[in-house]
Amino acid sequence: MGANPTSILVTGGAGYIGSVAVERLLRRGERVVVLDNLSRGYADAVPAGAVFIQGDIADRDLLRTLFREHAIQAVVHFAALALVGESVAAPELYYRNNVIGSLTLIEEARAAGLERFVFSSTCAVYGDRNPVPLTEMAATGPINPYGETKLAVERALEWLRRAHGFTYFALRYFNVCGATAERGERHEPETHLIPHVLMAAAGESDAVPVLGDDYPTPDGTCIRDYIHVEDLAEAHILALDAPPEASGPYNVATGRGYSVREVIGAARRITGRPIREKICPRRPGDPPHLVADPKKIQETLGWRPQHDLDSVLRSAWAFKLRQAARQIPK
Ligand code: UDP
Repeated sequence: MGANPTSILVTGGAGYIGSVAVERLLRRGERVVVLDNLSRGYADAVPAGAVFIQGDIADRDLLRTLFREHAIQAVVHFAALALVGESVAAPELYYRNNVIGSLTLIEEARAAGLERFVFSSTCAVYGDRNPVPLTEMAATGPINPYGETKLAVERALEWLRRAHGFTYFALRYFNVCGATAERGERHEPETHLIPHVLMAAAGESDAVPVLGDDYPTPDGTCIRDYIHVEDLAEAHILALDAPPEASGPYNVATGRGYSVREVIGAARRITGRPIREKICPRRPGDPPHLVADPKKIQETLGWRPQHDLDSVLRSAWAFKLRQAARQIPK
């Protein structure tokens, strides 16, 4: 590095996944600038050591100044609205924030001479009729505006690659979970399975709602591919280092599925607490079985997950106990 060391811009670095990625980048010795409007994230989640700028990805003037002042060499773009139900109720919000915001960021990144963009995408870009496990060749066809806005950005990035040789990595996350010592899920409202299971374990709720037990799966509950947030952060690091020819979409998943009942069973064992279940109606739009084939990311980027479901639950439970003891903010 010369007299003017470069930085990596992380948008959404005050959120759950973004803040864990910032931790990892700092550990590797990178300089990091976080841009987050705090509409969903928490300022106290931004790791000390990163430069924090409160602002919006759609603010062109701010972006210009930021790219000029911080010698940004690459962008890792997490900032997005990411609630499926909310996207169905207010699609315009999702198009404005996720599509127009991302496009503004991409344009300003290119204007500043950047050539590499790592994008938080989602398994919600896939249609619901693909054979499992899903490869990146599976048909896209989002069934909600959230997935649609992520796919729109992926498509724009692919056209930019063809037109300008722009390098992008669209990481299609499956079910992200787990925690580091300092950072874990803090969603408001919380809708995800593992936080709900641990809330029941901690006595913060009476029981875990099991959202349907009559699916066509071995135990009747839905199967998902759970990925530890630290393994996911590592995928972003590998994307930053990968050659331009590797540009494109990647599933980030383990290839192993667990049912809702299996997750609850494992959580009983890990926490040593009785966790009651309450059978509830299905949640509209939940596919019975969603597991990915991670071969492309393993073979092309050399990604290897270090965690399994037990270590996801152990880390998330430790985080929850520390929150309960008020050692870290709720
Ligand atoms: N789920 C559940 N109870 C909950 C939350 C989720 O049974 O309190 C189920 C949900 O129906 C899905 C799986 O757990 O089959 C994972 O849901 P989550 O919301 O964590 O992630 P998604 O797969 O919807 O992105």
